[in-house]
Amino acid sequence: MPAIAKRITVTLTICFICAALAPAGTPGRKSLKQFDAKINALLKKMTLEEKIGQMTQVTIDVVSEGADGRKEPHGIDPAKLEKAILQYHVGSIINVGPSFYSVPHWLDVITAIQDVALKKSRLRIPVLYGIDAVHGATYTEGATLFPQEIGVAATWNTAYAQRIGEITAYEVRASGIPWVFSPVLDIGRQPLWPRLWETYGEDVYLATALGTAYSSGLMGNSMSAKDRVAPCLKHYVGYSMPRTGKDRTPAWIDERMMREYFLPTFEAGVRSGVPTVMANSSEVNGIPGHANYHLLTEVLKRELGFEGFTVSDWQDIERLHTRDRVAATPKEAVRLAVMAGVDMSMVPFDFSFYDLLVDLVKERAVPMARIDDAVRRILRVKYAVGLFDDAYPDRMLQNGFASKEFTDFNRSVAQESITLLKNAGGVLPLKKDLRVLVTGPTANLLSVLNSGWTITWQGNEESLYPKDKPTILRAINAKLGANKVVYVPGTDFDRPLDISATLAAADAVDAIIACLGENAYCEIPGNVDDLTLDEAQLKLVEELAAKHKPIILILAEGRPRIIHRIVDKVSAILLAYLPGMEGGNAIADILVGDAVPSGKLPVTYPKYPNALVTYDCKPLELADGNNSDPEFPFGFGLSYTDFEYSDLRLSGESVSKDGKLRVSVTVTNKGTLPGKDVVQLYVSDLYRSVSPPVKELKGFRKVHLAPGQSDVVEFVLTPPDLSFIDREYKRKTENGKFRVAIGNLTGEFELR
Ligand code: BGC
Repeated sequence: MPAIAKRITVTLTICFICAALAPAGTPGRKSLKQFDAKINALLKKMTLEEKIGQMTQVTIDVVSEGADGRKEPHGIDPAKLEKAILQYHVGSIINVGPSFYSVPHWLDVITAIQDVALKKSRLRIPVLYGIDAVHGATYTEGATLFPQEIGVAATWNTAYAQRIGEITAYEVRASGIPWVFSPVLDIGRQPLWPRLWETYGEDVYLATALGTAYSSGLMGNSMSAKDRVAPCLKHYVGYSMPRTGKDRTPAWIDERMMREYFLPTFEAGVRSGVPTVMANSSEVNGIPGHANYHLLTEVLKRELGFEGFTVSDWQDIERLHTRDRVAATPKEAVRLAVMAGVDMSMVPFDFSFYDLLVDLVKERAVPMARIDDAVRRILRVKYAVGLFDDAYPDRMLQNGFASKEFTDFNRSVAQESITLLKNAGGVLPLKKDLRVLVTGPTANLLSVLNSGWTITWQGNEESLYPKDKPTILRAINAKLGANKVVYVPGTDFDRPLDISATLAAADAVDAIIACLGENAYCEIPGNVDDLTLDEAQLKLVEELAAKHKPIILILAEGRPRIIHRIVDKVSAILLAYLPGMEGGNAIADILVGDAVPSGKLPVTYPKYPNALVTYDCKPLELADGNNSDPEFPFGFGLSYTDFEYSDLRLSGESVSKDGKLRVSVTVTNKGTLPGKDVVQLYVSDLYRSVSPPVKELKGFRKVHLAPGQSDVVEFVLTPPDLSFIDREYKRKTENGKFRVAIGNLTGEFELR
């Protein structure tokens, strides 16, 4: 069949890849300052107490029934609600009780809250409700819950990221809520970190592209639309690089590395118009994120021109005193945080912040101008999400909640996230008439496919998971027929269960599907002392290997747990990350070839626990006997069909400082199945004044090709793509030679 070639162009400019998403202040998304005339008039009417109330955020338990606010069923306590809104003028409430609410319950809760604010408070200022909607509407029963961010990153599909944002916004607004604490735009360069799966992986370019696409889906053309929400970029900034790998432990990041690796995603998010930012719960270079004037005020608000508001993370202002010991009293902690640039305090259990800040202003320890600035920023967002026009939920939205269209799309996202890392002898796809043994601790749980921020914070309440969503085992049963599937758990996560029964069962089957990985977790409870996968799980595979049957390893995990000992013992490896509620179905689809894998690693998969090197390492990490030697490299992922690159072309041998260089390549599907490929463009700066990374991703394109079909994919490089943070911490370009690489094809050009 003659190859049909079509041309696709991708224009690249780091930090400007969101240009199409209308940065703040540009046509398409108006500056938040558009509301300032109304806000200034309102500010004039507000008392000090009313202003500080706007800066105060409490958790819903504070206004709910029961001594600790957690009586079941979780209902609003009208007296507590009135105390919060009328006495303390609270401007924002967050999150949920012990677990998710149904849509109707959410609508009642939000209506009750706005009723007090709009019908009983002096100035009728609506309450801004915020929620951790992390991979969909986390805390609404039956929501469409997508793969976690690390899985979305593995799709390398910006259109999918945007659609996930749209659907999440719809379902959160259907729950009456206009504000989500998402996306995480921290860069995942520390694989031990238990929040790695909340990130879009280790690469700045990929995370920027996906993060801004997702945010634009959340915001739509206007955040005031009834099916759109305000995102919150988190956790600003440097949180993801704890030196020890444990959550909420110190990072050491100098100004250049901060600007090169950790700031760009936030910069792009701010430029795309995201109106809220959450502070880093940890510390960088000895300065807690909530007390960092330089990063919060000088960089975020002045340099990046952020017009929205910053919110603290959970209880983190108080922790400046109780944990970080940079404030000798709780009052000093409030002063430090507010003066550093925190606009709203996620207190969240009491009104201490309010009381202390009122005192501080009266004592002139915090100037009124700072309070006005914070409140103005908060009110801008209340205007932007339309609360002053209509603060009540749109009850019609529940009709489209968790629709079949959303569920089908979720399955496609999960299919595209799953990454085929090994397929010796083409063992996959499995023939549907084979008999298989399914074993391992992630085989028959939904929680392990979703992990944290699912129904509950930790995501580990299996009994609360929907009964109609299949685990991996149930999906394989449905696909192959239960009579062809034997299930023996084999091991729990960290201890053997019924090994002899598992080995005996292996004798009677044609292939073994070993489902390994991690139990559900979130934040500090997910800390590990060793990146190596649990001994019991590795041993299960080693013992099964003695049966000489093909073993297909499925990994459901939030970070790349080391599996080197068993890589040679298995025939195939499918990395599922945390694929969400359709993860079981998607895994079964890929196993039997009903879907063709196209996921690519958004992180480097390490081979050894002490060899944690990112793909964009420095030349000296590969010199003089040093090497990176990962188990699987960043960007890697196999398919059931074969893609070939040819005819790499550069539009010239050089590019000027205000010029452009076109780089094109032909990609051809040489296999027998239709499939998707991710064409990845890497650029290496050969010499410069700050040691260059060996290569950096500067463009990618996901293409869908029929067998025999070709595409010409064209990238356009401009000098900003070739820039770096220099010795004076400024972004600049230096003349010299650069290499481009797509697959094994390379070319060179000069910047003059
Ligand atoms: C997390 C944030 C989250 C907040 C509110 C904190 O523990 O670090 O990511 O948004 O809780 O639930």
